[in-house]
Amino acid sequence: MMNEQLTADNLNDAGHLQIGGVDALTLAHQFDTPLYVYDINKVRDQIQRFKHVFEQRHVHYGISYASKAFSSIGIYQVMAQEGIHTDVVSGGELQTAINAGFPMAKVAFHGNNKSREELEMAVKHDVGLIIVDNFHEIDLLNKVLQEQQTHCKVVIRITPGIAAHTNSYIATGQVDSKFGFDLQSGQADRALQIILQSERMEVFGVHAHIGSQVFDGRGFNAAARKLVDVAAHWKAQYGYEVSSINVGGGFGIQYSSLQSPMAPEDFVDGIITAMEEEVQKTGINMPAIWIEPGRSLVGPAGYTLYTVGSRKDIPGGYEPFISVDGGMGDNIRPALYQAEYETVYARDPQAPATERVRIAGKYCESGDVLAMHQPLPKTHPGDILAMLDTGAYGYAMASNYNRNPRPAVVFAENGEARLVIRRETPADVSRLDLNYLAVKM
Ligand SMILES: *Cc1c(COP(=O)(O)O)cnc(C)c1O
Repeated sequence: MMNEQLTADNLNDAGHLQIGGVDALTLAHQFDTPLYVYDINKVRDQIQRFKHVFEQRHVHYGISYASKAFSSIGIYQVMAQEGIHTDVVSGGELQTAINAGFPMAKVAFHGNNKSREELEMAVKHDVGLIIVDNFHEIDLLNKVLQEQQTHCKVVIRITPGIAAHTNSYIATGQVDSKFGFDLQSGQADRALQIILQSERMEVFGVHAHIGSQVFDGRGFNAAARKLVDVAAHWKAQYGYEVSSINVGGGFGIQYSSLQSPMAPEDFVDGIITAMEEEVQKTGINMPAIWIEPGRSLVGPAGYTLYTVGSRKDIPGGYEPFISVDGGMGDNIRPALYQAEYETVYARDPQAPATERVRIAGKYCESGDVLAMHQPLPKTHPGDILAMLDTGAYGYAMASNYNRNPRPAVVFAENGEARLVIRRETPADVSRLDLNYLAVKM
C-alpha cells in the first residue's frame, strides 16, 4: 500500500519514487545524500490554488510568500515567475532576494527588531512595504528615510488578541505577544497617528498574523473581522481608510495521514466571506486582502533523501533504530517540537511494511531521532529513504552542528533536476574560522 501523502505521479515505471518526474534513486546517486529535493510544479500548483479563489470571488488581493520557510535564490525566482510577492525578515533574506533579481517593489520587510542597517538596506533598495512593528522602529525608519531623502509605504502590524493553535483558537487574552502594536491600550492608534503625521511614510494597510500550522479557519475569520473593525475605527476616528488588510499566514499542511488541515482554498474562501460581511456591517470600502503563506507553498513540495547506515536492535520489544546520514542538522523540527513526518522506501514506496522503526540521525544527541514508529520494509545499509513534506523550515533552519556540512538542494520539474544550493564541504564548515596561532601583523 502506498503512503497517503504520495500520488500516482510519485511512481515511475520501475516502481521507484520519483520527484518532479525524476527518479529519487538517480537523484541520490547524482547529488549524494542527505539531499533536499523540491517538486517545483507542486509549489506552482499551490500558488495557483490560492490565486484562483481570490479571482473567482472578484476581490483585490496580494499573496506574499513568507520566505522564512525556505529562502534561496532559486525559490525567489520561482515566486517571481508566478507573479507573487515575498516577505523577508532579515538583511540576509533581503540580500538573497536581491541576488535572485526579485522585484523589490514586491518585497515586504517584517520583524520585531529590524536593525538600523537592515532598514537602511531596505530603504536603499526601495522595498515595496515595511511592516512596522513598534515605536522604536517607526523612529528609526523616519531617521533613515530622512537621511536618504526618500519615502516608503508601511503596513501597521497589530496584536489582534487572537492566537490560533493547530486545532483551536483563543479570542480572549493572548495580547501577550512580542509582535505588533497592542489594540486595547491604544498603541495601534498612536502608531497610526505618528505615521500619518510623517511626511515620509504612507500607510498602506493593517496586518496581523495569528499562528502557524493552523488547521481550521475560525481563527483567521475572527482576525479578519477584527482587522476590519480596526480599519472602521481608524476611518471614523482619523478619517483614514486602509487600502489593504493582511491576515498573515499559517495555513496548515498535512504531515501525516492522521492530520486533516483545511484545503488552502477553503481557508481563503472563509476569510473573504468573513471580511465581506464585516465590511458590509461597518460600511468601509472593501480593502484588498493580503495573505502570507509560507509552509503551505513549499512544505508539501519538499522531500529529504537519506542513505541508511547502521542499525541497532534492542532486545525486549523496543523499536529498532535505523540511522541515516542526516538528522537534526538538516531537520530540527522533530527534536525542537516533536514534529512528525512520514518516510518511504524510495526503491519501492509500495512495498509492504514489515516493521516499525525509529529513524535516528547521526548527530551526537540522544534527541536526534527524526521519526518514531515508522512502518518500513526491512532496509539495509545503502538503501535510500525519502522523508516527505520537508520543504518548509528544513533547510531554512539547518545548522552545522557537529560541524556537519549542510546538504545540497535540488529543484526537480518536468523530468529535469537542477542543483540550486551546493552541498557544503568539510572545508566550508571552517571557512569563517581564523587561526589563533597566526603571527600578528
Ligand atoms: C511565519 C510567518 C508567516 C508564515 O507562516 P507559515 O506557517 O509558514 O505559513 C506569515 N506571516 C508572518 C508575519 C510570519 O511571521
